[in-house]
Parts: sequence; C-alpha cells; structure tokens
Amino acid sequence: MKQNLIAPRLLLLLLLFPLLFHAARAQEIARGAAPRRTVVRAARMLDVRSGAFVNNPVVVVEGDKIVSVGSNLAVPAGARVIDLGDVTLLPGLIDCHTHVLLEPEDERGAPPVVTKSQAYRTVEGVAAARKELEAGFTTLRDLDSEGAGFADVAVRDGINRGVIPGPRLFVSSLELSITAGAMNNAGLNPDVEIPDPAIITDTRDKMIEAVRKNVKYGADWIKIYATGPMRYVDPVTLDPLSQFSLEDVRAIVQEAARWHKDVAAHAYGGEGAKNAIRGGVRSLEHGMMMDDEALRLLVEHGTYWVPTLMVYVPRTPEDDTDLRRKIVASHKQVFQKALRMNVKIAFGTDAGAFEHGTQAREFQLMVDYGMKPVEAIRAATLRASELLRMERQIGTIEPGRFADLVAVEGDPLADITALQRVRFVMKGGEVYKSSR
Ligand SMILES: [Zn+2]
Repeated sequence: MKQNLIAPRLLLLLLLFPLLFHAARAQEIARGAAPRRTVVRAARMLDVRSGAFVNNPVVVVEGDKIVSVGSNLAVPAGARVIDLGDVTLLPGLIDCHTHVLLEPEDERGAPPVVTKSQAYRTVEGVAAARKELEAGFTTLRDLDSEGAGFADVAVRDGINRGVIPGPRLFVSSLELSITAGAMNNAGLNPDVEIPDPAIITDTRDKMIEAVRKNVKYGADWIKIYATGPMRYVDPVTLDPLSQFSLEDVRAIVQEAARWHKDVAAHAYGGEGAKNAIRGGVRSLEHGMMMDDEALRLLVEHGTYWVPTLMVYVPRTPEDDTDLRRKIVASHKQVFQKALRMNVKIAFGTDAGAFEHGTQAREFQLMVDYGMKPVEAIRAATLRASELLRMERQIGTIEPGRFADLVAVEGDPLADITALQRVRFVMKGGEVYKSSR
C-alpha cells in the first residue's frame, strides 16, 4: 500500500524537475547574461554595394545576425574573437541554380529514378549540401529534385533544424513538364511502368494541381520546363522545343502567386523562353539560344537571367560534339549582349550536373566573357538575394543581416579564381569551415 503512495510523488517530482530547471535558466537570462557575441576580423572586406574594400573590418555577430560592422571597430567586452588575418571577407555566396539531389553520374546511363532509391539519394543530398556550404555557398536555390520527390524539402528541413550542416535552401521539388518533353525518361520499354522525374502536366488543370501539390508538401519555388531537352534542339537553327503556351505560363504563375510562390523557367530560347518571360516567371534559367527580342523582354519585364555557363562547356571527349560547341558559342554571345543591355544576371550553375562544391569556376567564365569581377560577385550576392526576395536578410555584410560570411586569400577583384579557394565559412553566426 505504502509503495503505491510513494510512486506518484516520485513521478510528480520527476515531471517537475525539468520545469524547475528551465525556470532557473530563464531567471539567469533575465538577470542580463549577455547574449553570445562573436567578432570576426580580417585584413580586408569587400563592400559589394560600393565595390570598394574596407581595411581592418570588424564584424560583430550576435546569435545568427550581424549587429555592427566597420573599420577598426572596438571589440565588445567578452566577445569571442575570430581573427582571420590576411584574407578578404565577403558575404556568403548564393547559387541560384543547383540540384543537391543530382550527381554527375546520374546524367549518364540509366536515370537515377531507375537505379537509386529516394532514401539513397537523400543521403547523397546531405553530403552534397555540406560540400556546397564548405565551398562558400551559404544559400542555394535548388531547382528541382530530379525525380527524388520531396527529398529536397527533407534536406532543407534537416539543415534548418540543425540536424545536418548545409546552406539555406530554397527548393522547388517536382518540376512541371509535358509528355515526351524535358525530364521524361527516354528510350525505355513502354510496357514497363517507370515514373518520370517531372510531373507531367499536359492540361491547364494538371498544371494548377502540380503547383498545389508542390506547395502542399513544402516547395518554396515552382520550376517549369518552358523548353524541351537537348535532343529536340534543331541542330541547324538551334531552335528548342517550346513546351508551354503563354496562357499556360500565365495560369501557372497566377496559381503560384496565390500561394506567394515565384516561378523559375528552364528555357534555352525560342518561343518557349518568350512565353515564360511574358507569362511572368521571376527567373529564366540557361537561355543560351535567346535572340535579341528575348533579351529585350527580360529587360522590359525585369526578369532575372541565370545563365549557368559552365555546365554546357564540354568536360569529356564524348561531350565535345559539334552541336555542343555551337551552343557554347551562342551562350557566350548572348551573355555579352545581355551585359550590354543591362539584363539582371544572377549567379547560378546547375551544380550536381557536375561535382558539388566546384561551381565557383562559373565566376571565372563570367569574367572571361566580359563581366567585371565586382559584377560577377554581385550576381552571387546582392543580385541573387533580390531574386530570392531575401535582400533584407542575406547578400551583404550589414547590420540586421544573417551572419553569412566567407573569406578568401588575396584580392578577388584582381584574381576571380580566389573564390575557388574559400578558407572560411560562417553561416548564421556558426563557423562551418576555418582553415587558417
Ligand atoms: Zn538545372
């Protein structure tokens, strides 16, 4: 009988203990225990707004945000100081076109929807996210899961909850395409049921349903394939297959807007690209065969262009075809025209189609094609943050922004390849890489 009375009291005590503990901790915080402050110092900092260097910058970080920044600022008492020495500080880099669930091998041979489980691809995505972050990319817009369902949402949530390291992810999950077009498995036995990587949306109703499905399961962006795959590009005129009409794009953009989502369009050029721009997509991806009218439309509609230059440059002898060379030449020409016309260019690479964490080579190509180094860096900071509607949170080193910082040796304006050798990465006030 006695035992029966002790047991409930013991249980009550056990239940109360954590509450009492938390109350004591809350009191301690209320008594004014200063929030944890970290100070990052370096020899130089690039102010991406002005394009000028700041000597001896001091960045004061509290929690996950920057609270003050300036040259030779006084270090607050009790702050942890990270002195990086002779390096240049920059805002964390932003890649507006990646695929953390894609590996280079998936682009060759049987498609990954056939050869790999979604669980395995998620594991690969976790490793990819870490590589991207350690290369200095603190934010990614991940433009579709390439047939891995909503695994991109899982990777994003794991990062946001601190379960795994990785960049801030904005994901688009299931891309919209049409039967026989882009992101369809080609050359397979029609008698065997194999899922296509994309949602196939051959009618307006299906398009709207696909947008809602993406929203329901956590996508941040909607991705459409406004033009078809490489196999439908006319080898003479380079004209790509147009997949969605102007009315289709308008319907998708309107439905996405209902849920406060933006639309990104994969488009090589031709009518498909123009329909996408006129239909109101926020960004146009690739665009290597855009004509002058398409470029004028980009300017007129304020649409961002994410060129993804390096992914089309042949890396193997098999890739080095006549068609590929023509496409790369066209891409360069379009890029140079876009520079002259002041098209809003945001940095994006298609990382995943090539090795994760190696996309800083894109900067070099942008500069080789005639972009000023500071503009190339802005494309991956200021401009990219605007595309993501995150310009008040990321893209610059300013008070109130997330403490996303990277450091490189030397002067990245004099040698843009410095961005390929990131020495230090902080995201949201936490250090993820430091090789001093
Ligand atoms: Zn892509």
